[in-house]
Amino acid sequence: MNQDEHIDEMWQQFHSIPEPAFKEVKTAALAAKILQQAGYEVTSGVGGTGVIGILDSHEPGPVVGLRSDMDCLIFTENYKEIGIHACGHDAHMSIVLTVAEMLAKNGIKSGKVKIVMQPAEEIGRGARTLLSTGVIDDIDYLLGLHLMPKELAASGQIVAQIHWTACTLLEAEISGQTAHGSMPNLGINAIDIGCSIINTINAIHMNPLESWSVKPTRFQTGEGALNAICDSATLGFDLRTTKNSEMEILKAKVFNIVKKTSELYGAQAKIKLVGSCPGSEDDLDILELIKTAIIAEVGSTGLILERTTTVGEDLNFYYQFRPKLKTGFIGLGCNLTPGLHDRNMHFNHKDLIHGVNVLYSLVNSLLKFEKE
Ligand SMILES: [Zn+2]
Ligand SMILES: [Zn+2]
Repeated sequence: MNQDEHIDEMWQQFHSIPEPAFKEVKTAALAAKILQQAGYEVTSGVGGTGVIGILDSHEPGPVVGLRSDMDCLIFTENYKEIGIHACGHDAHMSIVLTVAEMLAKNGIKSGKVKIVMQPAEEIGRGARTLLSTGVIDDIDYLLGLHLMPKELAASGQIVAQIHWTACTLLEAEISGQTAHGSMPNLGINAIDIGCSIINTINAIHMNPLESWSVKPTRFQTGEGALNAICDSATLGFDLRTTKNSEMEILKAKVFNIVKKTSELYGAQAKIKLVGSCPGSEDDLDILELIKTAIIAEVGSTGLILERTTTVGEDLNFYYQFRPKLKTGFIGLGCNLTPGLHDRNMHFNHKDLIHGVNVLYSLVNSLLKFEKE
């Protein structure tokens, strides 16, 4: 069996057992088995379903981490929930574990390799859970990859640096005052307040030189009688910015608008942060090594220096909570269509080997890399 067939066979195995966030039980068991068979010291059940594999040279040197996400997405078909690997995490696992096997087979001469199989990327909680267990603390360099949609990188192209967007999800609950529909003067209509909030939020003006967006994604209200003033509304918002500092400004503006608009009408507002994911901060320390590894694999015409995506990625929590950790995250072009998170997502499997070769060469370069 050649390397292409080997990766594809592993992909088939992971693809056939899709499991969502924190339920990656069969997936984790398969990953642990592959690592054990390759000769890694394996710990399972880390932060729930995470798996850590260690390969130790017993010589001084850095600890190089290689991270893959493991969870799938849930779709509803014929009123039934089904899991599908529509974000390519099955491909990431196959690539990372194939690299792990190659490192064990060919041996490492210095430092340690730590394979990090991370749960729950899709709900933005897996990275934080692993951070809280301390398993990331001794890692000096953390590498990973994501399949790229065709529009960002085609087959045979690899992105050296991905700028991930900061995302925040907010939910606001407005409490007004009900009254008979004939006496609106005695009530506080939560529908009016919700509409005012949305209109004001749409009038936010942030720095036009920075990319950002905020939009309402939920407006639930009007559960009372048709002839009564509506007293409650729930609004949801999706906020995205390319810079973490801009996110703080945008969030403050949305909080302020919800609170002040509700006050203006005499209503109460509760606003809560449902989820957030920081954007990536530029990490230039190992960028030259990444570029060299990509050129060696796909030539200079295959190298894409950087891409900005409006998608979030929870690996950015590693940068946020361990600022000294050096990270390298490549984007693998593989003619992926129609897009990530599409249940019909498919890609050119022959490109997976490029991801394997680039990560393998990067781990080896970093194990020899001098820290300042
Ligand atoms: Zn995803
Ligand atoms: Zn993903």
